[in-house]
Amino acid sequence: MVNEYNDPGCRRRRRLNLSGYLLHSTVNGPGTRAVVWVQGCPLRCKGCFNPASWPFSPAQIIPAEELASRILAADDIDGITFSGGEPFAQAGPLADVAERVIGTGLTVVTYSGYTFEQLASCRDPEYGRLLAATDLLIAGPYRDDLTCSDRYRGSRNQQLIPLSGRIAPELLLPSQAQEHAVEFSIAPDGTITTTGFPPDSMVMQVAARCRGE
Ligand code: SF4
Repeated sequence: MVNEYNDPGCRRRRRLNLSGYLLHSTVNGPGTRAVVWVQGCPLRCKGCFNPASWPFSPAQIIPAEELASRILAADDIDGITFSGGEPFAQAGPLADVAERVIGTGLTVVTYSGYTFEQLASCRDPEYGRLLAATDLLIAGPYRDDLTCSDRYRGSRNQQLIPLSGRIAPELLLPSQAQEHAVEFSIAPDGTITTTGFPPDSMVMQVAARCRGE
């Protein structure tokens, strides 16, 4: 469904529709990073780890400028990661955020369900802006027949593509110590955010423990 958050004609509003964000995470790219999960994905990969992120219906609406300010106020982070949902469905306001933070030395990691070739051949100038502001692109749809345990990707077809020299290549090498990294964050209101690539069994086990079972 086309609405004001995924209609290219409305992108000048510069607001984001998010399923959530965290100011500190260590499992969504090199170092400690803020992570932004956009709401809405048209790709619907079989076996997607987060189908709740598919609908483009409004969730958490925030102006790009305000999100950038909150990220810039966070202490001790190395960068920001855009995940989803599909970040390129909100390429314009995400590029606004990225352009505001990279000038301060933070790096930008962007996930996409599209391949690099698809993104690079798209004529939408907002796609070009987001690619230009991205230091590391992790691209390609999730394939449940190619599942892997690499830290930064869910399936082997997904491409890790450095688009600048600002993230050292050695930080991206898979290693045994990096496999299956999972993070649970508990907000002051008790909301628990799970991130990384946790197996379903682990999420269910933690949920059961939280219920006291
Ligand atoms: S691109 Fe990502 S969020 Fe979208 S369906 Fe595929 S795995 Fe899920």
